[in-house]
Amino acid sequence: MRRFIPADFSFAPLFALVPGFTVLAAFAIDRSVTISEAGLSAGVIALGAAWAGLKQARAFPQTVTKVDTTLASVILDALPDPVLLLDGRRRVLAANRAADDLLGQGIHGRDIALSLRQPDAQDALRKAVAGAAPRSEADVVFETPVRRSYQLQVMGVPRSEALSVRAVVALHEVTALKNAETMRADFVANVSHELRSPLSALSGFIETLQTSAKDDPIAQDRFLTIMNGEAGRMARLIDDLLSLSRIEVNEHIRPTTRVSLANIISGVVDSVHIKAEKKGMTLDVDLPSEMADVSGDEDELREVFQNLVDNAVKYGAPKTAVRISARMLDAFIETGTPGVEITIADQGEGIEAEHLPRLTERFYRIDKGRSRSMGGTGLGLAIVKHIVNRHRGRLNVTSVLGEGSAFHVQLPISKR
Ligand code: ADP
Repeated sequence: MRRFIPADFSFAPLFALVPGFTVLAAFAIDRSVTISEAGLSAGVIALGAAWAGLKQARAFPQTVTKVDTTLASVILDALPDPVLLLDGRRRVLAANRAADDLLGQGIHGRDIALSLRQPDAQDALRKAVAGAAPRSEADVVFETPVRRSYQLQVMGVPRSEALSVRAVVALHEVTALKNAETMRADFVANVSHELRSPLSALSGFIETLQTSAKDDPIAQDRFLTIMNGEAGRMARLIDDLLSLSRIEVNEHIRPTTRVSLANIISGVVDSVHIKAEKKGMTLDVDLPSEMADVSGDEDELREVFQNLVDNAVKYGAPKTAVRISARMLDAFIETGTPGVEITIADQGEGIEAEHLPRLTERFYRIDKGRSRSMGGTGLGLAIVKHIVNRHRGRLNVTSVLGEGSAFHVQLPISKR
């Protein structure tokens, strides 16, 4: 806890020394002062000095200085939230370490309003310091170096002669909460939007079937095929949403069943190969003969590789190969445990670097129209990411524009 002693030390009370020196000067006019005259002068000076000292102590009490050495200071420094003490002119008398980190050490002795410039914050500070409200709050956002949101609370301290503190300021970080709120709102908006487009297509076609295409069997057939596709898209979206929420609920519980990745991959390859053949593509599998097992949830891991191989076929160029390979990892950087890395590489257009960090966000697509026309929900990679997280693994994506992309899934291997 650093503290600041107010700089304005008034000299007015020192005039109390004047009578003492005046008496002394009067005695000294004849250039000699007797012992009793000197004693009397010293007494008047001492009285004046004592009075001046008393005045000064009352006007500028140093109680805050004591905080420095007290238990309170140790406790405040240990708090993760920034806490500051202000005087009657909103100047920072003391600040804990978290406050120094957030606002800089330059705040000591300065008006806090210079650091908290938001009108709401200024209002809350003014009210508390003036004693107009015992407690006031405001939302404060710091834009640099990264956007962080705080809740500001200012508690007024009743005026007292012994204490120059007029308000206690506490800042509580709510960035994660605000981000979660925004994400939730965005998610609901996205889901509604994703469901609304197939739904409006369906109602449009129903109306056409009831009116202009009423007696046109060829048009009816064509429209019903499209309607079937749209209904399928809605069903896939709902399946993916349910999948995502189920995985999120269990994300903190690490699956413990021993599963064979080699079996899962060969099952996935069997199910995707017809789709690949239709595009003239091949699925080349290159796994080590001794593939270690992992601790996992078989259905979830199948979903991971199904999504990744599906995407490689979807976004790979026709008549090219999708390569599924694996290599053993000596140690995961974080845990030091051995692992396995499975790579699914395609020969497609590749992905621009700016998109790579956002690919696993829900509904993030590089080309919305293209993804939709291929029946994509925009949730596949979000699901992959959550499952890999649940397995305490990692997902990395590398890509070269014009050559293709590679999705690397790293999983810790089973110990048993
Ligand atoms: P979608 O259902 O749209 O495929 P995903 O979550 O699986 O949703 O993928 C998100 C986006 O990432 C896709 O829309 C696509 O733009 C991009 N993407 C995924 N896999 C690949 C890939 N192998 N090559 C190029 N782009 C890809």
